[in-house]
Amino acid sequence: MTEPYPFIPFAIPDIGEDEIAEVTDSLRSGWLTTGPKTRRFEEEFASFMGEGCEAIAVNSATAGLHLALEAIGIGPGDEVITTTYTFTATAEVIRYLGADPVLVDIDPKSMNIDPECVVAAITPRTKAIIPVHFAGLACDMAAIFAIARKHGLKIIEDAAHALPATSGSQLVGSLESDATVFSFYATKTMTTGEGGMIVTRNPDIANRCRVMRLHGISHDAFDRYTTTRPSWQYEVVAPGFKYNMTDLAASLGIPQLRKSDAFQRKRAELAARYDEAFSDLPLILPLQPPEGDIHAWHLYVIRLMDEAGTDRNSFIQQMYEKGIGCSVHFIPLHIHPYWRDRYEFKPEDFPHSFQAYRGAVSLPLFTKMTEDDQERVIAAVRDILA
Ligand SMILES: *Cc1c(COP(=O)(O)O)cnc(C)c1O
Repeated sequence: MTEPYPFIPFAIPDIGEDEIAEVTDSLRSGWLTTGPKTRRFEEEFASFMGEGCEAIAVNSATAGLHLALEAIGIGPGDEVITTTYTFTATAEVIRYLGADPVLVDIDPKSMNIDPECVVAAITPRTKAIIPVHFAGLACDMAAIFAIARKHGLKIIEDAAHALPATSGSQLVGSLESDATVFSFYATKTMTTGEGGMIVTRNPDIANRCRVMRLHGISHDAFDRYTTTRPSWQYEVVAPGFKYNMTDLAASLGIPQLRKSDAFQRKRAELAARYDEAFSDLPLILPLQPPEGDIHAWHLYVIRLMDEAGTDRNSFIQQMYEKGIGCSVHFIPLHIHPYWRDRYEFKPEDFPHSFQAYRGAVSLPLFTKMTEDDQERVIAAVRDILA
């Protein structure tokens, strides 16, 4: 092919006039940091999640995961079980608190944490489990809750990919976990540039997260940002963090949240079109959600089979040469030098994760993708593999 065509990246955010108007409104108001927009975004997020949920806005999902683990009392000597097939943020927050992540393998079909591996990893030091809803497909939460109840473990869901997704027809974020954390990083299903949200039904966890996200200043003092009453008085009750969300970020989040169901439908349509176009190729295609459940389709991850005749790296290079950006989700944690060396992992320790990683390619999937864009991606994949 000779015609020059624009590069199709693997993800681009969908920012419209609503977002621009809301941010401009904040800029004109002069209120830039945590204030009325953040409060409104939290209220709308909580009601999106459902009856009885509280939402605490933070400046990243990483911060949210850290606060949630702190709030449930994770500390030195504790173990927290999670999947090796995730982003390093899921596990690094456990280390922040002096505890140890215990990595386990995935179910090769769903690419989500394997409940049987979780059971096998439980020790007297185990305090919590962090399931990650990989690519937006919810984990088998019924199985994970059963394990948690039986062994008295806490659950913090890493829902960075899962807005919106359901498990057992119930929205992720409204389940019985201690807390669920969403990410609004620029590539996620909705964005505030950088940002995150903690959702919980437990008022003690909600209060602790609110206090710790802003220097350990008691909640009343946090209110001083959102009331017009003059208030110089506050109390520091713990050495907290600086994890609050700005009103500029919340201004992006308010219209993004309102569009999130429409975004999900568009992503599901794109995914279905890929499924159909690739059904005859030497690929493992993403697992469909159980009947009646919603997949957030944050990512569309294909896995090259051994008989594909090309390896993952050369496939991505060929796609790049055709003007298409792909990515890899994820390089399993146990392959990275820090985790590998600290816990003496070998690649084969988690065979399903290692095998998935060897063939995994995330294809472009974003709501602004046009039919022509997707045709180009499909043609490129077929050109390489068919
Ligand atoms: C993106 C991501 C995070 C971190 O989100 P930030 O908002 O960037 O901190 C955590 N876990 C998973 C699985 C992610 O993909």
